[in-house]
Amino acid sequence: MKLQFLGTAAAEGAPALFCRCEFCQYARRVGGREIRTRAGALLDDKIKLDFGPDSYKHELDHGLDFSTIHSLLVTHTHEDHLAVNDVACRRPVCAHFPENEPPMTVYGNEKTGEMLAGIKSDWIAFRRVRPFETVDVEGYAVTPLEAVHCGTRESGRWPVVFEGKPFSRSEEALFYLIEKDGKGVLYAHDTDEFTPADMDFLAGRRLDLISLDCTNGYLDVTYIGHMGATENRRMREKLLANGAADGHTVFVANHFSHNGLLPYERLQALLPGFLIAYDGMTVTV
Ligand SMILES: [Zn+2]
Ligand SMILES: [Zn+2]
Ligand SMILES: [Zn+2]
Repeated sequence: MKLQFLGTAAAEGAPALFCRCEFCQYARRVGGREIRTRAGALLDDKIKLDFGPDSYKHELDHGLDFSTIHSLLVTHTHEDHLAVNDVACRRPVCAHFPENEPPMTVYGNEKTGEMLAGIKSDWIAFRRVRPFETVDVEGYAVTPLEAVHCGTRESGRWPVVFEGKPFSRSEEALFYLIEKDGKGVLYAHDTDEFTPADMDFLAGRRLDLISLDCTNGYLDVTYIGHMGATENRRMREKLLANGAADGHTVFVANHFSHNGLLPYERLQALLPGFLIAYDGMTVTV
């Protein structure tokens, strides 16, 4: 399987819109890998993972043709992951297809379905997916897992106690395990360290590629919902210990906020055993 990282930043991009912090000034000066657009990826030129506001730029920059994409996996509805108005461009008048063209099916949680309700057409379909329920997507076995993300203090709706701390959330954020022909890719954005149920589901799978949320970069923060280098290192150990990964597994750190970014080589030094994602990086396993 081939995973192409099209965008590798969190919501503001890097350099961030309007930001004059030290890193953003450095990124504007240096360019190259230090420039990161909002997160999204493409598996085997076939399955799109998230559709954030930089997706159109990704299509142009990498010579892609999204008119041939028929499956979009949405993790959650934060705007860096789902630009609804851009997805709506697949509607008639905005886009043109032969009459027998199948729809692009969007897989996602309940809130994703609500946001797409107004734009569903013959060419845009929606399928609700739930954690740990595997669906067939163009011959790939796709399993949503439960993300520790979209937390709200007030709602109290999610009954998970995460590492001793109560955590509730505004929507059922997901991340995706994709398997085919004995290969497995885990695209874990956005999430904090995995829940016990996720760890049980992944145990023993010896995945080939695991991409972990590294929003906080070098920063150690206490809030729940994202990871940084410290949590990525810890997750790697936990995944190796429960057999979700082994010595052949490629670990990738991805989805960076400018707040926790360092120049590429310094970030790499913080995360031994990881590839540091950059826009356009392709990993084949
Ligand atoms: Zn995000
Ligand atoms: Zn900045
Ligand atoms: Zn998010």
